[in-house]
Amino acid sequence: MMAQDNFELILTKIIDKEGRKTMARCEMCGKSIGFFDKKANIAGGKVICENCVGIAGYSLNPAVGGNDISELLYLSADQIKANIVQDKAIAERMKRTNSRIGNFAMFDEEEKIAILASKYSVMMHPHNYSVLRYDQITECELIENGNTLDSGGLSGAVVGGLLFGATGAIIGSSAKKTTQTCENLMIKVTIANANIPAIYIEFINRTVGRNTPFYQESTLQAQDVMSKLKLIIEENRSRKADQRLQAALTAQAEGLKLERRAEPHMLQTKDPVEEIRKYKGLMDEGIISPAEFEEKKRMLLAM
Ligand SMILES: [Zn+2]
Repeated sequence: MMAQDNFELILTKIIDKEGRKTMARCEMCGKSIGFFDKKANIAGGKVICENCVGIAGYSLNPAVGGNDISELLYLSADQIKANIVQDKAIAERMKRTNSRIGNFAMFDEEEKIAILASKYSVMMHPHNYSVLRYDQITECELIENGNTLDSGGLSGAVVGGLLFGATGAIIGSSAKKTTQTCENLMIKVTIANANIPAIYIEFINRTVGRNTPFYQESTLQAQDVMSKLKLIIEENRSRKADQRLQAALTAQAEGLKLERRAEPHMLQTKDPVEEIRKYKGLMDEGIISPAEFEEKKRMLLAM
């Protein structure tokens, strides 16, 4: 009790001595941050309060875990605010999704948008989701402990490798019997975007027994997400094939139009009377026989 009193006294002295200087101010909301209040450092030696840290999608509670708050060290208050605006837009998009698997894979079937995050993303904050247009998704791979178990949309060059992959899968499944644990289960989504070529959706990120309900549930969820992604990739493919077919048909129709336009002209050059006169000339010059001329004339008049 005595020690506590002394401590309070010392603290009061510090605050008295330093005055308002000991009180930090949240760079985002302007709230005063007390000596013992939790806060996070951001760029430029500034701080933000615990509430603003949470709004930005981070956590100061080590028990909760949290997105690496060291990220904040590189962000100014304005940048963090801009990220929050972006997060709100993602949250709005999430509300419009009409199909979802858990809270880590959401799909907007009307706008053709997928919103994906790792299953154990901290607080499932909008911050942690990737927003992808369906037509950006080119490949998906289910990977357990580094082995590809299933894939969709792999390009022709890689499909050859898949034949060997099938053997690999057999090795993988026999290895499964001897390895009783899973350290990592994730889906790699390859996207048509030079800036972010792939995203990873984790379902298991720590060692778990393969006989646990947790493992079985995660595997089923991963398979559900894989099925959906494969469907999206297949739709992209058939849409592209349709577009190619349409382009070919259009080109063909254009060609036919050109031919049709050319037709009257071609008929003019093949005017039978003109042709007969030509052959008459050839007969008169003795180049073709009268019999050959009669034959040509008969053919031309029959046209
Ligand atoms: Zn604040």
